[in-house]
Amino acid sequence: MLSGFAPLGCGSVAVADITAIQLRELLAAGGVVAAGSGRIGPAYFDANRANLMVARGDVTSERFTFRNPARSAVPPAWARWSITAALGYQVGKGRGDGLCVAGYALSDTYSQLRNLLNAGTKLLREQGRQAAYAIDSNGAFDKAYARANRVGWIGRNTLVMVPGWGPAVVIGSILTDTEIDVSIGKRPGRWPCGNCTRCRDACPTGALSGDGGIVPKLCIAWIGQKESLTPEERRLLGTRVYGCDECMIACPVGSRRHAAIPTISPKEITEATPVEIVKRFGHWYIPRRDPTFVYRNALVALANRRRQDVHARRAIARFLLDGSTNLRHEALRLWLALRYRKESDS
Ligand code: SF4
Ligand code: SF4
Repeated sequence: MLSGFAPLGCGSVAVADITAIQLRELLAAGGVVAAGSGRIGPAYFDANRANLMVARGDVTSERFTFRNPARSAVPPAWARWSITAALGYQVGKGRGDGLCVAGYALSDTYSQLRNLLNAGTKLLREQGRQAAYAIDSNGAFDKAYARANRVGWIGRNTLVMVPGWGPAVVIGSILTDTEIDVSIGKRPGRWPCGNCTRCRDACPTGALSGDGGIVPKLCIAWIGQKESLTPEERRLLGTRVYGCDECMIACPVGSRRHAAIPTISPKEITEATPVEIVKRFGHWYIPRRDPTFVYRNALVALANRRRQDVHARRAIARFLLDGSTNLRHEALRLWLALRYRKESDS
């Protein structure tokens, strides 16, 4: 018998029920909008799909679950059960004339859910059960747990979509060795996508195939984390400095919750020190925690915005003298973009 595994019997059922109530209360109080639970199995479907994407060259580097899909597919040997939770967040068009950031990244939504899952894991461990949590990590296919636990549909946008919230959710799961039934929110009914293709049509890069597939290397969320950008990729970033919400904004599921979300002032990035960047935007995925990626994306966004303002001028003055060749080049491109605009306007 695995250590911490509650023996079967009337007493253990009652304890599991109490734990389920406690866990549900904890998640609901933390703002979880949907949760479901079920037996764990290996995520071979997701692993095969990830392998296929790598083989086809749909990714430019083998990061996240693309690194070792076979390993990510297999849960720990002790894990029999998973509880998946979804936390909602606001999506909508950017408000104001700042730089755009994806809705989930405006605040640290992932840490909020991570803290809740951590608290749930502790609760289970205090009761002698084995438990761990998985969220946005290399080691597990979050979507596989969400699908198995019927937290939502998998939309044509490839995302988990929760009734009433659509794709504007982050998801994570607790794994444990005991059956603990937790349910929050409505169970998904009929698949909502039908003949709809709005997400595919709204995608500025053609990353969505429309049949439930995605080419990650074409997605702006991926492009923004690349070491170097092609001229076309610079154009596609638009005024986005981190992530993209276009396919989510286009989705009718959960759209009544959509509202304009704030943009960020360029100076929050271009006038910040590297230490301030990591502190302020530390919840973003920044490769190697290198602030150069954030500065680079902001310079590209300012060039695409093509506005001659104090932010752009100060950014040019600062980064033309930067120690990074890449940033000096981006500053030069920004200067050229503004100069070209000035000439074409005159
Ligand atoms: S936009 Fe339409 S097709 Fe795409 S995920 Fe939403 S409902 Fe499904
Ligand atoms: S996040 Fe943006 S680029 Fe990526 S699939 Fe959605 S619309 Fe396309």
